Amino acid sequence: MEFLPAFFQLKDQPCLLVGGGTVAARKATLLVRAGGRVTVVAPELGPDLRRQAEAGEVTHRPGTFVPEDLDGMQLVVAATDDAAVNRAVAEAARARGIPVNVVDDRRLCSFIFPSVIDRSPVIAAVSTGGASPVLARQLRTRLETLIPSGYGRLARLLEDFRKPVRERFPDATERRRFWEEIIEGPVAELAFAGQMDEARRELEDRIARDQSRRDVGEVYLVGAGPGDPDLLTFRAVRLMQQADVVVYDRLVSRPILDMTRRDAERYYVGKQKDNHAVPQEGINQLLVDLAKQGKRVLRLKGGDPFIFGRGGEEIETLAQEGIHFQVVPGITAAAGCASYSGIPLTHRDYAQSCVFVTGHLKHGELDLNWPALVAPNQTVVFYMGLTGMPVISERLIAHGMSPDTPAALVEQGTTPNQRVLTGTVASLPKLVEEAQVRAPTLTIVGEVVRLRKKLDWYQPEEHRPGTVFSSHA
Ligand code: SAH
Repeated sequence: MEFLPAFFQLKDQPCLLVGGGTVAARKATLLVRAGGRVTVVAPELGPDLRRQAEAGEVTHRPGTFVPEDLDGMQLVVAATDDAAVNRAVAEAARARGIPVNVVDDRRLCSFIFPSVIDRSPVIAAVSTGGASPVLARQLRTRLETLIPSGYGRLARLLEDFRKPVRERFPDATERRRFWEEIIEGPVAELAFAGQMDEARRELEDRIARDQSRRDVGEVYLVGAGPGDPDLLTFRAVRLMQQADVVVYDRLVSRPILDMTRRDAERYYVGKQKDNHAVPQEGINQLLVDLAKQGKRVLRLKGGDPFIFGRGGEEIETLAQEGIHFQVVPGITAAAGCASYSGIPLTHRDYAQSCVFVTGHLKHGELDLNWPALVAPNQTVVFYMGLTGMPVISERLIAHGMSPDTPAALVEQGTTPNQRVLTGTVASLPKLVEEAQVRAPTLTIVGEVVRLRKKLDWYQPEEHRPGTVFSSHA
């Protein structure tokens, strides 16, 4: 170890910063965030530091550095672009035994600044000992994605309960086990989701009952996005890796399913067309039953759970039964397919609005507000429209849409198997038939489809027959 990692207590401590430029300003921000009283010595200040001085965050002492500036200082940073000045500051500080950092000159430093992940009061710091600050930043970015933004909230909550927990569990091993269960369980999830009152109640309850394990589990209703695993949210990935049970359906792509915990139980509840594998009430009940067995249940759904996903119905049942749940949004098929096919859903010149509708037939019919759908300067996106394509095409034209209006079919959007076919409203049914288009496919209707010629960027692999989506378990 070239440097000892340690954390300075800087609250109300006088700190000296020599230099007035942008690098100095960044250091000033850090020192101020840690509560330091910062004096900046520089003939003049750059715009950033000037703003900080005007806001009263730092004090400016105009002029060049003199050793007397060090009087009473607890920490010194030299951040000028003059190597001789930086060296003078470093030598003077060392002579007085004050910790000093010189930016970009490790040899003159008695301490260095790491890359910081701030989830106060939780702080993670990464350093390469000055070998490669860029590498340290990269690692920091990775860690940022792993540590939920609510970590600080959780830490504060746990801090409030240290004393009662110590009293309740005088034995250290027992206490540690209690905390571990809490940190991996619903209390933590509630805190990450910002439900602090609930989290507090739950924790109080656990302490009162001497029990960290809960008898009732919880449900995460998570949007898995349209197919590309890179489009998952950080929260989705975290919950996918901690759930004990996965309940998924047809629209969850294989690579995404593979990211769930290997030892998790899996339930396929997908509907094959015209052959409902598990009826909706069955799914609602399954989630309740699994949660009541004390499991952490991941209900994974394609796209966004609240867009044509019946996610609302599933959590209604949970709410009635008093089971904890949270909902994690996902990228809906319209957004994913639009991006990956180079078709902006709105555009200053072509469309000022965009509607999402279901093209799912009921008794061979489609009960939609057709006059509203044919309005000009609007993009219409049909989910589940394949079987109903002849009806969709015919109705739009009958209600006054020009048969030449551009339209696109996006099959297995955002996956390596993506296929995009373009035509017109009139030619859609023929297109579906001739190209043997299969679900899942999204239909985009509107002038914006023309933009694909210019904006097509995504290069899927050669279209292969078959699907990357889940079928049977
Ligand atoms: N909740 C989902 C939609 C479920 S409805 C979401 O927000 O995306 C199912 C329909 O979504 C499919 O019939 C298809 O029209 C569309 N869809 C979902 N994933 C798709 C994909 N990868 N490519 C094309 N269409 C998709």
